[in-house]
Amino acid sequence: MPSAPHPQAARTALSRKWAQWRDRRARFAPLNPRRTANALRLMQSFRRAQKPVQGEKGARSLDPLQAWPMSLSVEPTTACNLRCPECPSGLRSFTRPTGMLEPDRLAALLSGPQGLARDLVYLNLYFQGEPYLHKGMDDLVAIGKREGLYVSTSTNAHFIDAQRAERIVESGIDRLIISIDGADQEAYASYRVGGKIEKVLDATRHVLDAKRKLGRPHPHVVWQFLVVGINEHQLPTMRAMARQWGVDEFVVKTAQLDAPEDGHPLLTEDPRLRRYDRDPSGRWVLRNPMLDRCWRMWQGAVLTWDGKVVPCCFDKDAQHAMGQAQDGAGFREIWQNPAYHSFRESVFKHRAGIEMCRNCTEGTEVWA
Ligand code: SF4
Repeated sequence: MPSAPHPQAARTALSRKWAQWRDRRARFAPLNPRRTANALRLMQSFRRAQKPVQGEKGARSLDPLQAWPMSLSVEPTTACNLRCPECPSGLRSFTRPTGMLEPDRLAALLSGPQGLARDLVYLNLYFQGEPYLHKGMDDLVAIGKREGLYVSTSTNAHFIDAQRAERIVESGIDRLIISIDGADQEAYASYRVGGKIEKVLDATRHVLDAKRKLGRPHPHVVWQFLVVGINEHQLPTMRAMARQWGVDEFVVKTAQLDAPEDGHPLLTEDPRLRRYDRDPSGRWVLRNPMLDRCWRMWQGAVLTWDGKVVPCCFDKDAQHAMGQAQDGAGFREIWQNPAYHSFRESVFKHRAGIEMCRNCTEGTEVWA
């Protein structure tokens, strides 16, 4: 039987605004005095790092970073059930191994006197791979929640039945991003190759039902629509579906494309729904002023399932690994090691000189 929303699921604009306001408030909730002071130090040092050196045109003086990350993305697994064409997990093209994060590793990283949770605010439990393929995903969430962090994840929602939906709600996760890139099976599976839209819709209903049943306001359920040439015509239908299914928020994300220069089948017709424009020579280029700075890398880091610390989520194959962290103390050493400092310097001196930074959205609007 085709999936259908819960009979009372439809949401008014006001109730969705209220849910979004509540989610914003939850994002500030972890900010105790220590975390606030750390976040302020990050902002001040970021401003300082952009100041040119007097008398030396274009030169920057970068002091070693004296603050700790406020956000951390941790990869539960590199494995994925789907085969999306622009994703290295989907294409099985990683040179690094596939595996699952040990919950003990996450606990050692976050907890204790040197634990990162003392300074962190946000824990994003996703990077590459499908997080809910990890059987202990709800335990990973619980570790972050125990430390008082705002915890989120992003899923293709193929492994969420009614029982798991209840466990997800009970885990206390704050934000659940569900990828849904089409209003029907044909459009959906054109990008989410191997995926079934029925599973995504069922999962959505299970999670919203579990929230109702358990009387919990969380997780904030977001439908994320990755807009590409194949599905751009479905945007109005998707907006109506999001209201009808009762999700808390519907967001439209433009796609990152590998090698778009000579045109790409996934480029949208509507320029507002893509990140790329033609330059005077006719080549497709990222709409990005490519300023020599990067807040994303400055304020956060990414940890692969096996403990490699990489500077940002664009380093999908861990080409710029700064070290291997066993625990919070190990991570803090890596965060301040010469390799990390020199990477930060390179970004602030000549960002376009780093290949992965050239097709990166830092400085570009990615939400349509
Ligand atoms: S790719 Fe470079 S510019 Fe982009 S987020 Fe990573 S470090 Fe920053």
